[in-house]
Amino acid sequence: MTTEKCQNFVIFYGSQTGNAEWIAKNIHQESIERGFISECYVLDDYNKVDFSKEKVLVFVISNTGDGDPPDNSIKFFRFLRKIKSKTYLSHAKFSILGLGDTNYSNFNNTAKRLEKKLLDLGGSSFYNTGLADDAVGLESIVDPWIANLWLALANVCVQKQKDSGIDVTESIVSLSIKDNSQNTNNLQSSENDSHLTNGNESESIKLGNKILLDLTDIVDSDQLTAIPRIPTVFCKISRLNKEKVTTPLPSFLASSSRILNTRINAVRCLTHPNAVKKTLHLELDIKDLEFSFIPGDAFEIFAPNHEVLVKGILNTLGINENMAHEEISIEAAEGIVDLPIHLKKFVSTSIFELLQYGVDLTSLPRKALLRMMADYTSDDQEKRSLFFLCSKQGSQQLNRLYEQRPTILDLLVTFPSCKPPIERLLDTLPQHQPRYYSIVNSPLMNPNELHFAFNIVDYYTPNPYNIQKHGVCTTWLDKLCGYVNEMNVRTILNSNITIPIALKTNQSGFNVPSDISKPLIMIGPGTGVAPFIGFLQHRELQFLSENNDKHLGDMWLFYGCRDKEKDFLYRKELEGFVERGILKELFVAVSRAPDAGVDGKPKYVQDIMRIKGRDIFELITKKDAIIFVCGDAKGMAKGVNDALADILVEHGQMQQSEALDLLKKWLREKRYLRDLWG
Ligand code: NAP
Repeated sequence: MTTEKCQNFVIFYGSQTGNAEWIAKNIHQESIERGFISECYVLDDYNKVDFSKEKVLVFVISNTGDGDPPDNSIKFFRFLRKIKSKTYLSHAKFSILGLGDTNYSNFNNTAKRLEKKLLDLGGSSFYNTGLADDAVGLESIVDPWIANLWLALANVCVQKQKDSGIDVTESIVSLSIKDNSQNTNNLQSSENDSHLTNGNESESIKLGNKILLDLTDIVDSDQLTAIPRIPTVFCKISRLNKEKVTTPLPSFLASSSRILNTRINAVRCLTHPNAVKKTLHLELDIKDLEFSFIPGDAFEIFAPNHEVLVKGILNTLGINENMAHEEISIEAAEGIVDLPIHLKKFVSTSIFELLQYGVDLTSLPRKALLRMMADYTSDDQEKRSLFFLCSKQGSQQLNRLYEQRPTILDLLVTFPSCKPPIERLLDTLPQHQPRYYSIVNSPLMNPNELHFAFNIVDYYTPNPYNIQKHGVCTTWLDKLCGYVNEMNVRTILNSNITIPIALKTNQSGFNVPSDISKPLIMIGPGTGVAPFIGFLQHRELQFLSENNDKHLGDMWLFYGCRDKEKDFLYRKELEGFVERGILKELFVAVSRAPDAGVDGKPKYVQDIMRIKGRDIFELITKKDAIIFVCGDAKGMAKGVNDALADILVEHGQMQQSEALDLLKKWLREKRYLRDLWG
């Protein structure tokens, strides 16, 4: 490898929710401002560069599912796997920024795998891999990693000096506290008095919640450190002076061949009105639609952000509703090659539509958002507070702010002199995500229907805040279905209520095995039971089919609920499978039973698994059973993994470390499959 500096470098991103894309594009933009020559591509566009020649590579990559690569990097990983030469990348230097979450097992697995593979192919790292952790806030790793990247890059890449003579190799971003608050938003209206209603006259519009902050220890702006740089300006909006034709769905949803508008046929509440969580079961009509699936597959729903929230934001920014519905076009700002993918799909659109379907209005604010807001805040005290919150010194108060789970509207009402142009919000807010659900039914049972189940997300922030928060998709679906709450009563919905959906086939192999004689150990507390209903339906019908000459493998289900009378989801169906001999064993852990967890009594599924350890061990080792786990990625998945390791230690006479290694091997061999949800 020569020591000569390279003329340019390439940034690649693999992004599931848009975070990695946003970070990569900001690195790209900043690198240009710092005098580097760079290109930026999504990983699946890897063939836009010649890997056998490119000398400096920067990767920003997140994870999905159980430490799997994001969807838009799968082709790239397939390409990498096929390369066997140990010197293929011996000319190349790389660095990786991984975005992960330590709440999940396999923390930052994709970045680690990528690093190993690049080293195996002869590449060398020019700057340490950064492993950011969403559990403590991505920014605490991402920001310093980027700040120090410039120096590392300057060692391997040519960097032009800026005309200003500023030392562009400095790693600390210099702060400019400019007042852009007088910037008038060309979409702002002088009519700031529009009285808003949300269609239901009796329901008053929520105008956001003021965030509680203790700013007595606020530090002067010139003493603050680690303030993020101003995020890249990506988009430009042009008014077309046309009234927007109101269509029920944005054009990108209406015109995509992947996305199907399906009718909700029926709804059933699976829980008692006094249950801790409310769970709904919905049946969608997919007759005549091209939608083929097998149990284990999931699908996505494109739900809009709540209209009330959108109206609140528009009102706060002084954009009247007529203007918000006008047809506009959104394009890349000057000097920007392309819009972020999630904004690019809005061709002919409106501000209202972009806020409803384009950006995430409810996730925790990035520091960069607070930084951008500070630039458009006229009140000195508010501006200082925003700078403080996104600085290192303000991290404690930022955590306080996070505890209150503020929406962007809450931020705008807390800092009322902050009036950013709508474009800057679109630049900085994360992309709005479709929501994923497991399919509950088997296509053999209901070929024209798609069933799914979900908890209504509705909770209060902790004391002393006590603010009620609602999920985006689940509360929308609850409303569409008329807020039914009578337990296990199926209500047919006559009206034409439709929702846009798209199939998401399971890439991980988490599907019912085709060989019905294979024994299955299924573990799925709460809504984690959803895919197993489909597994059981599918196998029962395969077993009863005339062509079947195989015996039915043993099927065991470990299920968990809080109270058998209130939230035992699909109880009738599951007990039916047991009665008909399809489900050999049904174990139910009742976590809020008076004796749960007392004197060795089980509380959770993993406790029953330990009790049944010997049988589980035999089923796996003597009958080759496959283990399926579905549900919560944070606590349950680890609890179950630990229980399986304990079973192997106790009944397989092995050390804990050997047991954990064996489980990892089974994961790779797909003898142990997990469908984990955050
Ligand atoms: P849940 O109602 O919160 O909990 C179900 C049971 O699990 C309760 O008895 C709960 O007990 C118990 N539990 C709590 N912590 C546990 C732990 N560390 N280990 C084992 N059990 C534990 O469950 P849920 O909200 O339905 O959660 C299931 C997860 O699966 C969610 O993340 C959901 O997103 C996901 N999922 C959803 C779908 C879907 O299509 N909607 C499909 C599959 C999976 P306590 O509360 O008494 O502690």
